[in-house]
Amino acid sequence: MSQSLDTTCVQGGYHPGNGEPRQVPIIQSTTFKYDSSEHMGKLFDLEASGYFYTRLQNPTNDYVAGKICELEGGSAAMLTSSGQAANFYAVFNLASCGDHVVASSAIYGGTYNLFAVTMARMGIEFTFVSPTCTDEELEAAFRPNTKAVFGETLSNPSLAVLDLERFARAAHDHGVPLIVDNTFPTPVNCRPIEWGADIVTHSTTKYMDGHGAGVGGAIVDAGHFDWTAHADKFPGLCTPDESYHGVTYTERFGLAGAFITKATTQLMRDFGSIQSPQNAFLLNLGLESLHVRMAQHCKNGQAIAEHLASHPQVSWVRYPNLENDPFFDLAQKYLPGGSCGVVSFGVKGGRAAAERFMGGLKLAQIATHVADARTCCLHPASSTHRQMTDDELAAAGVSPDLVRFSCGIEGTEDLIADVDQALAQL
Ligand SMILES: *Cc1c(COP(=O)(O)O)cnc(C)c1O
Repeated sequence: MSQSLDTTCVQGGYHPGNGEPRQVPIIQSTTFKYDSSEHMGKLFDLEASGYFYTRLQNPTNDYVAGKICELEGGSAAMLTSSGQAANFYAVFNLASCGDHVVASSAIYGGTYNLFAVTMARMGIEFTFVSPTCTDEELEAAFRPNTKAVFGETLSNPSLAVLDLERFARAAHDHGVPLIVDNTFPTPVNCRPIEWGADIVTHSTTKYMDGHGAGVGGAIVDAGHFDWTAHADKFPGLCTPDESYHGVTYTERFGLAGAFITKATTQLMRDFGSIQSPQNAFLLNLGLESLHVRMAQHCKNGQAIAEHLASHPQVSWVRYPNLENDPFFDLAQKYLPGGSCGVVSFGVKGGRAAAERFMGGLKLAQIATHVADARTCCLHPASSTHRQMTDDELAAAGVSPDLVRFSCGIEGTEDLIADVDQALAQL
């Protein structure tokens, strides 16, 4: 791809032909018509490609997935009904009962619960490692039945930057792919595939949609992990699927298509966590301005972080682009153009002061949401992360006084004034 990401945000994915709609059409249809049962049969055997039922695939979704695929530099992509579904599918497409996955401990609370509780009940074991663990600790986390390594480029809400090259190298040394949730930076600020990631996931609910309009997710395959070189580890991709008359995904669809085709034909078929075409249309509207919005989110994030860092009532500030931040060097490497609009900080006076501060905000609103055009804030210890013990919170980098402040795209001065008046009330 030679064109800039800015152009891909606006024009990627959908390329209308002569006389076709300029905007992505919403194909609001559960099903698709064919002239013969034979043709239909070929679709079901994966011998012909085409749409037949929106539980598995829909053209609107595929246009928008195509744009995200281009933005990330992948070979194939799919939309899911949520970020949770994207991460579940990405891992479950590789790991089954009796398998094991290495995951960074600095991940979104919902993902942690999905892995540590729900997928554990399915018989998949997770070993969580700190993103700042030593090479020896990372090495020790692997087992013979490990099927993937998982992490977040920039973690929600703890803002740890994953050393993508180091985690990719460790994964590849063990013959497994690195799956990276790139929700917070978006491809505008980081393209993990360029640093060795094999699968990239998104909660499109956040910056990609950007307007708090639709919950959604996406999975992008880089298309470069050689499943066949480790065929014993990935029988689902490298041996015949009897539910499709013996199709072997890597043979029929190649390295570029095997992963997403399997996730679509098996997981979407059986679980049906598809994004609605309406939501995909809204997501595409968001993507058209992603590059413009990310710049303002980052400008506001930087300004608020610097302002809070010098405020006497603030005990600590975490923002990867602050020079004294523990992740500054990694941010310089992986997120040189900016990280995101989210700033984490602690108010002097701990948990109670944090809650009082949030109650005093006027522009910024308390919401179980993040990474949106409107500034919002959240106290993770009493909301998204409340199922975690204190030890687990500490491992995820979430202290009880942490306020997650998600800068929107309003005027910078107005956000600073709002924070100042709320701190003045303490
Ligand atoms: C929000 C979020 C998710 C979950 O996404 P949903 O769309 O809410 O299901 C996963 N990963 C990260 C990093 C997130 O911020």
